[in-house]
Amino acid sequence: MEFTQEQSVTFRDLGLSENTLEAVQAKGFVTPSPIQAACIPILLKNERDIIGRAQTGTGKTAAFGLPLIDLLDEENRTPQAIIITPTRELALQVANEIISFKGSKRLQVCAVYGGANMREQLRDLSRGVHIVVGTPGRIMDHIQRGTLDLSQISHVVLDEADEMLDMGFRDDIESILRSTPENNRMLLFSATMPPEIRDIARKFMGDYEEIAVQKQHVANASIDQIYYDVYERDKLEALVRIMETQKDFYGIIFCQTKIDTDGVANKLIERGYSAEALHGDVSQNQRERILAKFKKKSINILVATDVAARGIDVNDLTHVINYALPQDPESYVHRIGRTGRAGKTGIAISLVSPPDFRKLSTIKRIAKSEIRKGTLPGVQEVISAKLDNLKEEVTSIIEAGNIDKYLVTAEELLAFSSPEDVVAALLKMNLADSIDEDNFGAISEVVPGGREPGGKFGRRDRDRSDRGDRGGDRFRKSFSGAGREGERLFIALGKLDNLTPRTLVELIREKSGVPGRFINDVKVMEKFSFISVSERDADRIINALNKDAKGKRTIAERSQK
Ligand code: ADP
Ligand code: MG
Repeated sequence: MEFTQEQSVTFRDLGLSENTLEAVQAKGFVTPSPIQAACIPILLKNERDIIGRAQTGTGKTAAFGLPLIDLLDEENRTPQAIIITPTRELALQVANEIISFKGSKRLQVCAVYGGANMREQLRDLSRGVHIVVGTPGRIMDHIQRGTLDLSQISHVVLDEADEMLDMGFRDDIESILRSTPENNRMLLFSATMPPEIRDIARKFMGDYEEIAVQKQHVANASIDQIYYDVYERDKLEALVRIMETQKDFYGIIFCQTKIDTDGVANKLIERGYSAEALHGDVSQNQRERILAKFKKKSINILVATDVAARGIDVNDLTHVINYALPQDPESYVHRIGRTGRAGKTGIAISLVSPPDFRKLSTIKRIAKSEIRKGTLPGVQEVISAKLDNLKEEVTSIIEAGNIDKYLVTAEELLAFSSPEDVVAALLKMNLADSIDEDNFGAISEVVPGGREPGGKFGRRDRDRSDRGDRGGDRFRKSFSGAGREGERLFIALGKLDNLTPRTLVELIREKSGVPGRFINDVKVMEKFSFISVSERDADRIINALNKDAKGKRTIAERSQK
């Protein structure tokens, strides 16, 4: 885990209130990160300014956010803290993180950034807020319009100051700083310390303490490591299914050679994914361009060789995928260390074809890694995940607002058809045939000791006519999860019942006595979940869970074949 420290300081040791301690606990933070351990006590004393030198992913938001919650006065609804961030994404992220810390304290947080609904921001500001988080340009706007009162500001935070300077916000920042009262506390966070930052500090900060923390990369307990048995020629299909079931997939796919890297990237692009290949033949210019796109998430898939991926500094990957296993265990550890950072759980997936089984055992042994076997999601599972994700996305677009310009057309559409029909037609347009079973290729079950269908272990491209004779039926037969690997169970409980994969496994263990290590490939969706277990355990689990529901409804059953 990123945030383990030798000396075990607790959040309580730092002097936070019971209210914020509870919020921290609810977030699942166990140990303060180094920057948190250093900043929080100083901030709570409220005597000195701070320059914090720390990279992204070190937990800076809580380092200043938690003490702010404790320090601000909930009775005073004129902004007391202003947090300046380089981008709207960061503004929203920081605002949400701070809201998640406030516990029962009645603090209002408002995010102001360009491109968003000005009316809403004005309304929020005029209702009274305690904390304003925003981008320099939009904050300036509000100051100039007289809609942001800075007279009561007691804390100013410059988050990712070097980024803001790089983006040309220096003048805006200085004029914001000049508009705030003189003797407030200032906190400046930055990954690097160019002279310009020292300059700002000299001009605007009082007596300050400088804190620097190194980012640690420790092999990580928060990575869920899974492998799938899959023939070489089915790997692409397996990859697609894995990506389709993950909401907001953001990952690096590792291949062994340049040719494979290009091949996989091209096939993904053909199928409509935003992917790019990165390998030794990619020019420096091109490389920078690709990495910038990946960081901005305008592409969410990077297909790379080990060498090309060296030095990529992206820290919030949802997945690392070993399309091919690396040559040595060390590279494996290095590869998967790119996910599961900063307190988030990452997923490392290895697609293992029969010739690589031995390599896998070596990696497990030498890297002391707990790599569990998973069952690839079936087509129905992929489709329901896709629909779930779409529902979530629609809901969050509605919540985010900013859809005014479509409302007139919406009303016009509703004048002629029922709401259900209009929505269904839009879904059809959006999904096209991407939720048709026939669009998924088949994946053959790996037969131990057998040979790869198609004669050899090599790659074989599947063309349309080949896919044509692999309809949904064939597919379900070959991949129902009901083979010798065990049973796929459907559980009628999901995220809406507050379940996570971990709590589901825990619940099943409690009710049925089947230990977690026998429960594989747990997928928790909105309203239901899937697990894979042996045939015998399947019976135990079905009986235990359904007995508990006293026949009112079926909680667990074999997933449809
Ligand atoms: P930074 O601003 O330094 O890039 P963030 O404040 O955004 O980092 O934190 C990165 C992630 O780590 C967030 O998801 C946050 O919830 C999580 N996090 C922060 N502090 C802790 C902690 N002490 N323990 C576990 N996770 C944490
Ligand atoms: Mg941050």
